[in-house]
Amino acid sequence: PPDHSANPLTFKELQDILIATPKEERAQDWSKYYTSGPHLAGKNYSQALWTQERWQEFGIQADIVAYDIYINYPVGHRLALYEKNKSLDTGEVESWKVKFEASLEEDVLEEDETTGLENRIPTFHGYSASGNITAPYVYVNYGTYQDFEELIQANISLEGKIAVAKYGGIFRGLKIKRAEELGMVGAVLFTDPGDDGAETDENGVKLYPDGPGRNPSSVQRGSAQFLSIAPGDPTTPGYPSKPGVPREPVEGKIPSIPSIPISYVDAIPILTALNGHGPSPEDFNSYWQKNLGLKYKGVKYNIGPSPDNLVLNLVNEQEYATTPLWNVIGVINGTLSDEVIVIGNHRDAWIAGGAGDPNSGSAALNEVIRSFGVAISKGWKPLRTIVFASWDGEEYGLIGSTEWVEEYLPWLSATNVAYLNVDIATVGPIFQAAASPLLNKVMYEVANLVQSPNQTISGQTVGDLWDGKIATMGSGSDFTAFQDFAGIPSIDMGFGPDPEAPGDTGGAVYHYHSNYDSYHWMNTFGDPGFHYHATAARIWALLTAKLAEAPVIPLNATDYAIAINGYISQVETKLNAVIMGTSSEEEDLEARARPTPAEPKGDIEKLKLSLNKLHKAAQHLKNAAEHHDAWAAKLTKEAGENLPWWKWFSKIKLIFRIRRVNEKYKFLERKFLYNKGLDSRSWFKHVIFAPGLWTGYAGAVFPGLVEAIDARDYGNAENWVGIIEGRIWRAYGSLR
Ligand code: GLU
Ligand code: CA
Ligand code: ZN
Ligand code: ZN
Repeated sequence: PPDHSANPLTFKELQDILIATPKEERAQDWSKYYTSGPHLAGKNYSQALWTQERWQEFGIQADIVAYDIYINYPVGHRLALYEKNKSLDTGEVESWKVKFEASLEEDVLEEDETTGLENRIPTFHGYSASGNITAPYVYVNYGTYQDFEELIQANISLEGKIAVAKYGGIFRGLKIKRAEELGMVGAVLFTDPGDDGAETDENGVKLYPDGPGRNPSSVQRGSAQFLSIAPGDPTTPGYPSKPGVPREPVEGKIPSIPSIPISYVDAIPILTALNGHGPSPEDFNSYWQKNLGLKYKGVKYNIGPSPDNLVLNLVNEQEYATTPLWNVIGVINGTLSDEVIVIGNHRDAWIAGGAGDPNSGSAALNEVIRSFGVAISKGWKPLRTIVFASWDGEEYGLIGSTEWVEEYLPWLSATNVAYLNVDIATVGPIFQAAASPLLNKVMYEVANLVQSPNQTISGQTVGDLWDGKIATMGSGSDFTAFQDFAGIPSIDMGFGPDPEAPGDTGGAVYHYHSNYDSYHWMNTFGDPGFHYHATAARIWALLTAKLAEAPVIPLNATDYAIAINGYISQVETKLNAVIMGTSSEEEDLEARARPTPAEPKGDIEKLKLSLNKLHKAAQHLKNAAEHHDAWAAKLTKEAGENLPWWKWFSKIKLIFRIRRVNEKYKFLERKFLYNKGLDSRSWFKHVIFAPGLWTGYAGAVFPGLVEAIDARDYGNAENWVGIIEGRIWRAYGSLR
């Protein structure tokens, strides 16, 4: 055993440092820096350097890791409504006149500095196609698969038209994808204030900057990549975008029709012009009638198509380039180099600000690293290696993290114990987490150790005020490559807005991907005082420390087995509903997002019976997991829970037993990878978790199996039962 007489910290002492060090004022300084100017992917080198320098000042070794990636930058855009007027004298001469010219600009606010920067970033979509299109248009609700289907059933002709869709429900790129598949020629996505809980001037809520309601000119930028196929650089699926590597064509991975995002102010005249044309929401099911926040502005939400004398001109000019982006990677070498904890946050933003997304996370990350730096200055060295990542290019499609995981896959597969992601650390007071079930237990433990900034009874922790729900992970942030491609148990967490507390009680609408996700907004409405920033840093640091420092890695296999049993039951419920014909799918977003099932193929009863095999395997896994966790608990006791690890490190026999138990924990998640990947998206290797194929963000369980059932292909579903069963037995075998 190495000599650690110079390592003076017990875990309790380390924990105290990690709770005491993160400071509101420091987080505020970091936030101010990161949100002071544009930092689009590939255009933030100075901020990468600055981040590296800060981390080095904190005492952490840090490097910049670059990739050459294919992305777009905005050049120009236009959206105008043209009206054809008959000459009143002759009734013959016709001329097209601009009836409405969209501003495509967010208002410059005096009190919010970065909204007026000369070099502020225009409103646009990442990976959108260039084009100049003039065509009639149709309002398509949220643009889910079933929204489009219902329009087709209502005999609305879509081909050759521009789709005008509400944001919300599913990932934006999937709306554009479906419009493209149906022969539509462009897409316009607008933010409906109805989806914010109708926080508007009409119901007495003041609007930003005067109050917490949505600023009417706010625009949601965002990626239009077809992310459920594969994240990362679309020209290098599965391998790193190093300079000079061969590149694959992007067809089918990014849109070929132009799209732009607009504000509701710009949407109102375009939608109003459809009033009285085509069916209205009442002619469809209830899904078309909810959250219609512009009704009070005179919008009737008629579908259209726009009448003969009205067309939209949509111009989108994008410059595509293969250009470097920069991850900053910091490391604290542990005594064990083959057990590694990675934590990360992205640094790039769509806007000059990005105070919530991602820089509340970036500020928290700096506080985490500064805190570990304090521990290092006291002579501390972790048991396991800790890696810190400031990712670039998340917004375009999780690029920095995905390319890095693709490059270091062999090393990560061999060493990485867990990945802890924070994207938005805070835009409100509600703690949210999604995780691999292996990490549930340590997540609860840590939430109960950190004081909440929002105590109604003194001493309340984040855990006390949390609903305790841990979601399954879908996609939408940098954990995706770790969890779904590399099989590394991951967590994604942060504080979100309070949907129950609009306006008066302090809840504020979050201006996602808009200029108003700014320092000023954060300081005034999002997290005045920056208490949630500091709190997020404490939670993140403690999670990292527990995973890096506890002699026995604090993962819990039983929770995974229990979760798997639950997922099998979910599939059974689904199958029963299909068999009984009781699946009421009209209101269910997930069902609305996917195609209408085809004619059934194969034998559903046989499929249902085959689930017994899954139950059996999962029950065995549970037994083995319980046994393993009990063994781990025993070793934890033997090692002495609060001893500094170097005290037990000298107990050679114990070390070997602990190393064995830890190795099994480390590789458990890997056992659920299936090398061939999912049917229609082979990059996704995990048989238990994936982002929903048709929703993008929301997590799906047993994706291969469930997608086959949704397609009513019971033969293929049975095939997937076999694949999943094989993985579960493999996991069982590894723990036995
Ligand atoms: N977080 C970004 C978004 O939601 C990126 C999502 C992605 O491409 O996966 O727009
Ligand atoms: Ca790649
Ligand atoms: Zn983000
Ligand atoms: Zn974002």
